[in-house]
Amino acid sequence: MADADTILIIGAGQAGAVAAATLRELGHEGAITLVGQEAHAPYERPPLSKDALQTADAHGRTSVHPEDFYERQRITLLTGTEVVRIDAGRRIARLADGRDLPYSRCLLATGGRARELPGLPRGTPGVHYIRTLDDAAALRAGLAPQTRVAVIGGGFLGLEVASTARALGAEVTVLESAPRLLERVLPEALSDWLAERARHAGVDLRLGARIAGCDRQPQADAAVRRQARFLITLQDAATVAADIVVVAIGLTPEVSLAVQAGLALDPANGGIAVNAACRSSDPHLYAAGDCASQHRSRLGMALRLESWQNANEQARAAAAGMLGQPAPAEPYPWFWTDQYGCNVQMLGLPQPGLVYACRGVPQAQAETPRFIWLGHRDGVPVHAIAVNAGGDLRQLRVLFEQAIAIDPQRYADETVALKPLVKACQQRAATT
Ligand SMILES: Cc1cc2nc3c(=O)[nH]c(=O)nc-3n(C[C@H](O)[C@H](O)[C@H](O)COP(=O)(O)OP(=O)(O)OC[C@H]3O[C@@H](n4cnc5c(N)ncnc54)[C@H](O)[C@@H]3O)c2cc1C
Repeated sequence: MADADTILIIGAGQAGAVAAATLRELGHEGAITLVGQEAHAPYERPPLSKDALQTADAHGRTSVHPEDFYERQRITLLTGTEVVRIDAGRRIARLADGRDLPYSRCLLATGGRARELPGLPRGTPGVHYIRTLDDAAALRAGLAPQTRVAVIGGGFLGLEVASTARALGAEVTVLESAPRLLERVLPEALSDWLAERARHAGVDLRLGARIAGCDRQPQADAAVRRQARFLITLQDAATVAADIVVVAIGLTPEVSLAVQAGLALDPANGGIAVNAACRSSDPHLYAAGDCASQHRSRLGMALRLESWQNANEQARAAAAGMLGQPAPAEPYPWFWTDQYGCNVQMLGLPQPGLVYACRGVPQAQAETPRFIWLGHRDGVPVHAIAVNAGGDLRQLRVLFEQAIAIDPQRYADETVALKPLVKACQQRAATT
């Protein structure tokens, strides 16, 4: 059995690295061991589909903490090391090399795996999945002007890869099976706007595209122009020739250790079920980040989110929870993506029955469009999508957090300055 102060963190990614740092900030003096399967020290993943596809030495710039941080903070970082089993009764984690690590409390920050497409598995020459720094390096090596890239999946990741590949001069086709882009997170007008933006950037975007088959070494023919490595056939008999294929069809949460340890999972999303303190059904085991499903009191439901902010917030909540300190206030979900020259930020989540008001002009072909769509219920903001307008979104955040109404017409009127308008809403709410 471990010393009462020994904390083990499994998964040296975003959540694991932030949790380790937060434990020290909150005054934990005992041992911290951070175990990660990958060969690299913890790094941030968002650049992997953006800058890291364009520049060779990405790791230094994407590290979560400086190189000497772990030593300075007395955090034992074991890279290239997999935990293969948890004995929850005896509170011991077994490593692949046979070593046992006892713990008093343990955080599962195991993230997830890129979902594989049957028929185009990982390791197939010319087929890329993008989850790790090594994945990004392999894809970068395959991207060049005129390379024909077929991106399967028009989610955030697929669209970002398509945008970066276009910027590098590749010929890009995106195959999305749904009738519109990001239909679960964007209102229809925004999906259409994004589709137009991608097409304006030169992406051949095929919506409602269902793959019937993929021939891996097709013969050159007139339709294919020059020899291609792949010929993808769609159900409507259209074909797409490609030199490389990027599969971006979502993520499977990595919960195998949790299953083996007997932890409760959320049947709706497959994540490890945790409370506000990120504690699982075992009081000594916590979970945070992409692998965790956390109950949100504001929304009255559990959510498993795959975002940088969520990994950071839950890591901080888990660190506080493991030390018996109060959980930080429940955050509002926030997410960003960079594509086609736009920084798109989203606050809150879409819900049925929201009415949207737009501030700014959503012109897809403008060089730098700037606007915010605000989804509200009787004026109370619930969901926002800001395009190149992160500063304005920050002004609005307080209205979300305190459920304060804003007049949608005045909001949409750009001649009305936003900061004083938000202040007036706050003052009115304080006096009523
Ligand atoms: C290409 C890409 C672009 C993204 N862009 C954005 C963006 O623009 N905006 C945004 O908000 N979010 C973005 N995200 C999402 C964000 O990066 C993730 O939500 C975040 O990294 C999740 O952190 P995590 O710690 O939960 O998981 P991860 O960062 O995936 O870390 C989990 C780690 O655990 C390790 N591990 C798993 N099992 C074991 C085991 N048994 N033993 C040891 N180690 C193990 C894994 O190898 C991995 O290193 C992006 C993600 C990707 C992949």
